Order: sequence, then C-alpha cells, then structure tokens
Amino acid sequence: MNILLVWIQWSGKWTQARKIAADYGYSFFEMGQKLRNFSELDHPRSREVKSYMEQGKLVPDDLITTMLEHYRDTHGSDKILFDGIPRSSAQKALFDAVFPNYFVVFLDLKREQAIERLAGRKIDPSTGESFSADFAGSFSPFTGQKLIKRPDDTPEAVAKRIEIFYDNTLPLLALWAQEGKRVYTIDASKDIETVYEQIKVVLSAY
Ligand code: AMP
Repeated sequence: MNILLVWIQWSGKWTQARKIAADYGYSFFEMGQKLRNFSELDHPRSREVKSYMEQGKLVPDDLITTMLEHYRDTHGSDKILFDGIPRSSAQKALFDAVFPNYFVVFLDLKREQAIERLAGRKIDPSTGESFSADFAGSFSPFTGQKLIKRPDDTPEAVAKRIEIFYDNTLPLLALWAQEGKRVYTIDASKDIETVYEQIKVVLSAY
C-alpha cells in the first residue's frame, strides 16, 4: 500500500518524508522536486514549467500524468511515499487511475503557522532539503552546499501556493472520506520529533 502525504507547505516536511522513506523502505516521489529538476532540463517544455513554478501555479495536468506513468513504469513494484500530488480533484482522478492503492496521512497546520514557517526558510539547492529560519548555519551539514532562498519563495508565489492548498487540495480529504479511503490526521504544529512519533503510530498499523 502506498502512502500519500497531504500538507500545506512548511519547512519541516522534507525531514519527515525522508525519515519515513528511510525507516520504512519507501521510495520517495516528491512532485515539486521532480518538476524543479525537469524545469532545469534542456527540454522544449522546461521553460513553461519554470514559469508556472515561479508563479506558484499548478503545472498542467498532462505533464503530471506523464511523470506519474513514468514513475509507475520504473518503480511500480516499490512501496511509494507521495508528496505534493494530487493537489486538485482533477489530479486526484488522474492519480487514482495510475496508483489506486494508498492511504492518506494529513499533516494539519494552521495557515498562519505555515506562513510563519515558510518565511525565511532556506534550501540546499542540490537536494531540495529545507532548513528553517532558525537554522543558524549558511551551509548544509549533510552536503556542504551553500544554502539559498528557494527561487519560488517570493511572497506572491507563497500566497498563491497556500491559496491553492485551501481551495483545491484540502477539499480532497472529504472526497477520500466519502470513498472510504483511510485518512489519518496528524497535528503538525508540534516539533519534528513529536510529529514523527504520531506518524510512526499510524505506520505501525501497516
Ligand atoms: P512544492 O515544492 O511542493 O512547493 O512545489 C513547487 C511548485 O511545483 C508548485 O508551486 C507548483 O508550481 C509545482 N507543483 C508541485 N506539485 C504540483 C502538482 N501536483 N501539480 C502541479 N504543479 C505542481
């Protein structure tokens, strides 16, 4: 059974997802990172993807479908942890068609707290790993890379991503509940270790 993580953006998410993937043997499919990599390629549609990302808007669904199908064809026999997909009901339909078996872990965080955690975060450009504003160093302790502000963390793009989350992604929880899919809600306002303890309780049932 695959896992689908649903959460508003915040700086601790990368850490949680990596921990789950490593501790429980899941392959990690992170939609935003896959798109970021694609946007840097010399591909006819890379510029287009970059432009959507800079504005915080959703990249067109046909590209998302292609990436999901490619992942199914290359990793279909793995247990997969998904992050950042689906973000709309249209994407839910196309996701379900490619990967029907999953349960949902929803990390619940208030809008104000999400904005606060996003403000001032820095990332490692080589891995996408996030470091919160209170991380003191300028370099990643894991790769030695200089940390940078993520190019699409402008106030406008952040506001757009948060709006898409509330308007298009959050309503999916009700759809899954109606369909009888398992949805586990975790209180993400706590520190990283406490949040991870809650996630472990859920995963221990599988
Ligand atoms: P993230 O790293 O999850 O914040 O995603 C960064 C950007 O990638 C978003 O602002 C979108 O432009 C794009 N993106 C990520 N996930 C999706 C998705 N499921 N559908 C369309 N665009 C996406």
